[in-house]
Amino acid sequence: MIITIDGPAGAGKSSVSKELARRLALTYLDSGAMYRALALYMLEKGVDIDDEAAVTEHLDHVKIGFKNGSIYLGSRDVSDLIRTPEIDVASSAVSRIPAVRKYLTQLQKEIGRKGNIVAEGRDMGTVVFPEADFKFFLTASPEERAKRRMAQLESRKKNIVKHEIILQQIKKRDKADTNRAIAPLRPANDAIVIDSTNLSFQEVVEKIIDIIHEGKKR
Ligand code: C5P
Repeated sequence: MIITIDGPAGAGKSSVSKELARRLALTYLDSGAMYRALALYMLEKGVDIDDEAAVTEHLDHVKIGFKNGSIYLGSRDVSDLIRTPEIDVASSAVSRIPAVRKYLTQLQKEIGRKGNIVAEGRDMGTVVFPEADFKFFLTASPEERAKRRMAQLESRKKNIVKHEIILQQIKKRDKADTNRAIAPLRPANDAIVIDSTNLSFQEVVEKIIDIIHEGKKR
């Protein structure tokens, strides 16, 4: 069983995907965390993330993996370090680079080969797992997504940023993710689009689980 959950930043994909994985006893694959870890690696090595050739050259040395729900760069757990506004921007920048997408897509397919996953990201249903059993595209208005992002930053006790600034950043990242040449953010043709602007987290989860149970009966 492979379930894909794609959508823009702050649509609630992570919490919904984690809960689905828990309820359905599947493994959660956070593909965004992989782009983030790769961006962190480049920043720490002082590589200019807008320099495609330099990023591509450094890819051979990157070792990204998951262990017990945490993301690792080599032997280092970087789960907290990748959740910063700086990495929000840097991950979106490196994700435009063809060699980066090829490298991470391969890794994601490898993880998916065992099956039984909930894969979350931007291109899980369109590029990485086109054969998925169920594809969802989770979205919400930019204002609502900025509100949720702010609550998330507050709960993690990160630097508090103004709502307007987060909203601007979200719109900018949506634009970059939607307009890039390879694997742009868009729903797969056979994806079910769920607008969660006026739905609670629980309502979204129940809706998805209902659809999966219905689909399995057919
Ligand atoms: O989902 P998250 O916000 O953690 O993803 C960080 C960035 O990684 C996104 O803005 C996007 O540019 C990139 N990404 C991607 N493809 C994915 C997952 C994330 O391009 N499947």
